[in-house]
Amino acid sequence: MPVLVASDLDRTLIYSSAALALTMPDARAPRLLCVEVHESRPLSYMTETAARLLTDLGDVAAFVPTTTRTRKQFQRINLPGPPPAFAICANGGHLLVDGVTDRDWHARVLGRLADECAPLAEVREHLTRTADPVWLRKQRVAEDLFAYLVVDRELLPEDWVKELAAWAENRGWTVSLQGRKVYAVPQPLTKSAAVREVARRTGADLVLAAGDSLLDADLLQAADRGWRPGHGELADTGWLAPQISALPERGVLAGERILREFLAEARR
Ligand SMILES: [Mg+2]
Repeated sequence: MPVLVASDLDRTLIYSSAALALTMPDARAPRLLCVEVHESRPLSYMTETAARLLTDLGDVAAFVPTTTRTRKQFQRINLPGPPPAFAICANGGHLLVDGVTDRDWHARVLGRLADECAPLAEVREHLTRTADPVWLRKQRVAEDLFAYLVVDRELLPEDWVKELAAWAENRGWTVSLQGRKVYAVPQPLTKSAAVREVARRTGADLVLAAGDSLLDADLLQAADRGWRPGHGELADTGWLAPQISALPERGVLAGERILREFLAEARR
């Protein structure tokens, strides 16, 4: 397949009810398809139109879900269309081939992390020492690769995030704030490196991408063409690159628009 579509999932193609950002009268709201159930409750959605577009995309491109989610969090998502041959989880730390992690790829990632940035233990220790229980809800480690906090956004001081980002930067780590989560991710752990590996293996000559957060910036930079929604960290900071289109749509309708753009470009 000569066209590769590497897309972020959360708040790019799929949306929790808190992230839908529907603004039309209820009677004119699009019909939604639930694509993720967690602890027996519906969690993530796309519009039915987006679901159809994603199915159509499978005929003209290799769709590669490209997410910061752990493998376990990814595997409970039930996307329409055929199961993807490649999927990228843990922000590039795991490359799934027909649903199974590629051990060689994972070993290469671990090698880079050991060489190029501070160890996870040091970052965890810093988070534990500086996060305030007033706003901290949970502290988690994902796949033994990176850490994230679940926070109360109302109470989270903006300065704390800025200070953390500066501290992390000096140690080769990146901080990203997405909804109720603060991520601390090693800089060498990137979606783009994993996408390049998939492009190499598939012989793709065109890579399309989409994403909404700081952790998607390298993915978009590495693509031939990319799109970002009107919401999210990248929109909030006005982030752009020459081959990237900033879409006006926000919320679940941005997901639909992104799939429309993927399909048009792949068919070109
Ligand atoms: Mg996202």
